Amino acid sequence: MKDTSNIVKYKFEMNQVIEDKTLFKTQCLINGKWVDSATNESIKIVNPYNGEFLANVPQVNRSQVKEAIDSANIAFKKWKKTSAIERSNLLKNWFNLIKENINDLASIMVSEQGKPLKEAKGEVNYAASYVEFFAEEAKRIYGDVIPSPFPNSRVVVLKQPVGVVGIITPWNFPIAMMVRKIAPALACGCTCVIKPDERTPLSAFAVLELAIRAGIPKGVVNAVTGIPSEIGEEFTSNELVRKISFTGSTRVGKILMSGSAQNVKRVTLELGGNAPFIVFDDANIDAAVEGLIASKYRNSGQTCVCANRIFVHSNVEDEFIRKLKIKVEEFKIGNGLEDNDIGPLINDAALEKVERLINDAISKGGKICHGGNRHKLGGTFFEPTIISNINSSMSIFKEEIFGPVASIVTFNSVDEVIELANNTKYGLASYFYAKDMSKIWKVAEELEYGMVGVNRGGISSALIPFGGIKESGMGREGSKYGVDDYLNIKYLCMSD
Ligand code: ADP
Repeated sequence: MKDTSNIVKYKFEMNQVIEDKTLFKTQCLINGKWVDSATNESIKIVNPYNGEFLANVPQVNRSQVKEAIDSANIAFKKWKKTSAIERSNLLKNWFNLIKENINDLASIMVSEQGKPLKEAKGEVNYAASYVEFFAEEAKRIYGDVIPSPFPNSRVVVLKQPVGVVGIITPWNFPIAMMVRKIAPALACGCTCVIKPDERTPLSAFAVLELAIRAGIPKGVVNAVTGIPSEIGEEFTSNELVRKISFTGSTRVGKILMSGSAQNVKRVTLELGGNAPFIVFDDANIDAAVEGLIASKYRNSGQTCVCANRIFVHSNVEDEFIRKLKIKVEEFKIGNGLEDNDIGPLINDAALEKVERLINDAISKGGKICHGGNRHKLGGTFFEPTIISNINSSMSIFKEEIFGPVASIVTFNSVDEVIELANNTKYGLASYFYAKDMSKIWKVAEELEYGMVGVNRGGISSALIPFGGIKESGMGREGSKYGVDDYLNIKYLCMSD
């Protein structure tokens, strides 16, 4: 049993925390209407800070999921014919409303997700930047004219929206992960049905309410909560859904990918990571420590691009750990709605996983330099931790930690660390700190990852192609490449 004796007990009143009470939506969105479950079944949403009840949301049945897909399909027939300017303007309206309501959106998010308010606001701004970017990009979805291989003919390439998109998103960035799929989908002329995570649907619903207020027509965005596997099966088997866009675990990504094979649906998968963070002995150590703090401890370490294995050259290991410890000791831990740096983990399972990984590492020679235990606050709080002497036989080397734990592996040569860093089935983000230019190019080219931060720990932006390789997934979100996954290429051969 988890101990919650030190957690402040209070009745969380959402209505006291948010200014615009009408943003607190607890129903699903189907065809422009907020609706309950047809069977009256519901899912309880709790605050991870203290386990208190926040709201019930519908557990819709399968025919309601079908209804949402049908409504997206009907809406698609009109939406795909709207002008690029019209879609762009509606996305801009949505962007403005998200910015205007940042405080309420962030507060709702903290209440159901636990992250510190400043990070929640950062997430809302980050999400909004995708809407702004794709509002602009809607006007630049160009086709092509190709020199004709045939006499008296013209070859023209059209880019057309794929159709209804099934979107499934996780709890760690409940607004940003969803919005960065919806924005390019809508910019391209697609419509969508979203399944937010059942632990964090309230912030997703609030941001969709703003989409309605922005003037996005009914049926263009729909959202359902229910039994994840059932909704996933409907998304993959229903032929009206032409594409799945998923962010979450590799395990579920594989289920959705194989399910999508039955009718050859397109998939975009943003899955787990096991990011290496390499500190070479010519690195600026202070900058590397700053970068690691940004990459490792954000969202209590619960991000797919978090540094998971920190490789430090033996010549600089002592200095690096000493400086890192000073920073980690400064963290304020507690309720996200107060001025803290680290919030709770999402649930008991997350806490137990972190403990299991640490215990396994210690049993195989891992050394705790800082933290290592459940936090005295109780609940699902875990101490920000630094553990060294990690090696590839330990589970912490192979699995995504998803907690505030920096696990340090010592290395001695460039070739050794490249091999160690690539020794994982994942390939999402990677980071390294060095000064020597030839080494920088060699390492950047040889790391088998979709993203490489060189002398930088924070690399996410709407302007960059976010995504992974290997079992971290396929497809890219953000940047000019971010529309590709929502478009079909059609080639016209036009002879006289
Ligand atoms: P995590 O392990 O971080 O919770 P998941 O991959 O389980 O990651 O969850 C990410 C999203 O996938 C959530 O919205 C969750 O409800 C959904 N999900 C979980 N299982 C399935 C499934 N079998 N089919 C479709 N979606 C699922």
